Amino acid sequence: MRADLIQVSYIAAALLFIAGLRGMSSPRTARTGIVWAGVGMAVATAVTFATPDMANYLLMTLAMGLGAIVAWAAARKVAMTDMPQMVAVYNGMGGGAAAAIAAAEFLRVTDPSTSFAVLGILGALIGSVAFSGSMVAFAKLQGFIRKSLLFKGQNAFNLLVATAAVGLGAVTVLQHLGYVGGSQHVVLLAFFLVALAYGVLMTLPIGGADMPVVISLYNALTGLAVAFEGYVLGNAALIIAGTVVGAAGTLLTQLMARAMNRSLANVLFAGFGAGGGQELAAVEGSMKALDPDDAAVTMAYARKVIIVPGYGMAVGQAQHKVWELARLLQEKGVEVKFAIHPVAGRMPGHMNVLLAEAGVPYDMIFDLDEVNAEFPTADVALVIGANDVVNPAARDDPGSPIYGMPILDVDKAGTVLVVKRGRGAGFAGIENRLFFMDNTRMVFGDAQEVAGKLVAGVKKV
Ligand code: NAP
Repeated sequence: MRADLIQVSYIAAALLFIAGLRGMSSPRTARTGIVWAGVGMAVATAVTFATPDMANYLLMTLAMGLGAIVAWAAARKVAMTDMPQMVAVYNGMGGGAAAAIAAAEFLRVTDPSTSFAVLGILGALIGSVAFSGSMVAFAKLQGFIRKSLLFKGQNAFNLLVATAAVGLGAVTVLQHLGYVGGSQHVVLLAFFLVALAYGVLMTLPIGGADMPVVISLYNALTGLAVAFEGYVLGNAALIIAGTVVGAAGTLLTQLMARAMNRSLANVLFAGFGAGGGQELAAVEGSMKALDPDDAAVTMAYARKVIIVPGYGMAVGQAQHKVWELARLLQEKGVEVKFAIHPVAGRMPGHMNVLLAEAGVPYDMIFDLDEVNAEFPTADVALVIGANDVVNPAARDDPGSPIYGMPILDVDKAGTVLVVKRGRGAGFAGIENRLFFMDNTRMVFGDAQEVAGKLVAGVKKV
């Protein structure tokens, strides 16, 4: 294939990625967006195979075949609730792949240009950090690591490791440009080990509640690493796609950090939200249980009900029943709204996706900023499988690990109905005073089962 045709095809593939990402910005067009991005990927792959100096067809086919089989099997098996872990792993793989490309190129190319060496090592550094950091994020989300590692002088120690990684990267570049002697292989290996260690050390202290910010950050870093390695390989599609992913990931990181009401520096260096796995704080009072029939009557006679879904709705796959309940209430003349917290569930947009899948119209779904002032005017707030995102401690307990995170003010509604299975804590691992308040009633049970009973109950009214 001619060189100019190859570049044009790569740019076409990159434009398809951009169109795909744009499509994914709205639930309405998300599926089409994924198809566009997939077509872009197919074009880029086909062009790579048609590149004349591309010799390793067998290895490429083998690697792609193996990757496709593993990804296909894993994606079919993984539960919707485990998607964030999968996203963390795949993010990390992207960063790892970029770092591996850099390693191979540094071993292969003997007389690199300055820009080749500098951008290659930058991509390797960022990719390695994104890889090992994402693996720790995966382990935390999967519950393999329950405690956040915090020790005195941690930030200074991490800074030292980061400086060592940058220093070894600089030596690698100088060696390859011929300014410094010594074994290139040893320095390159040391550079990768220290860079990987930094990714681990940087992620270990970050608490559970901050994982959305961390995952988005590694997504951005992976994009950046891929863009740098795209330059090293002279591949326009990688440069553009990597830049687009890097930019989208950066915007998402900012949005997630804003949703937690924190700066990125605070997330990375303050050990915030490191409450996972700690002893639950004692809370005064007792939980008051209500059976689903009585809860259904309370809602059926209400003027306004705001439904707040959380991770438990995803676990119970209760979205269809919840939407049926909302429709029944509307038929009885009740005003129903859905309130979505930006970090509800386990991945950005988790609740929006589930509600869209159930067919809830977009004009019934409101973001935190749009709906929060309305809770005092609601007769009932129905909290279905949410915990951290409605925990008043984030608003008024400076000692709480989630203090400062904006929450949905459900406690200001006339009655709060909370659907959950038992006394289980939320992701941040802390007790929730909301469940013990005078105006709160607990409707215990699995989200789908209880939603079904609420539907039956409302039908009887
Ligand atoms: P949450 O704090 O994790 O609480 C979920 C609650 O659902 C639990 O208390 C659990 O209590 C209940 N539950 C679980 N399975 C259930 C079922 N089958 N039926 C009924 N209830 C069930 O959820 P959240 O309020 O949505 O908050 C999200 C948390 O995850 C935040 O801390 C956020 O920072 C973090 N996070 C978010 C993302 C993101 O991007 N959105 C990513 C990573 C982490 P029981 O066990 O008693 O039932």
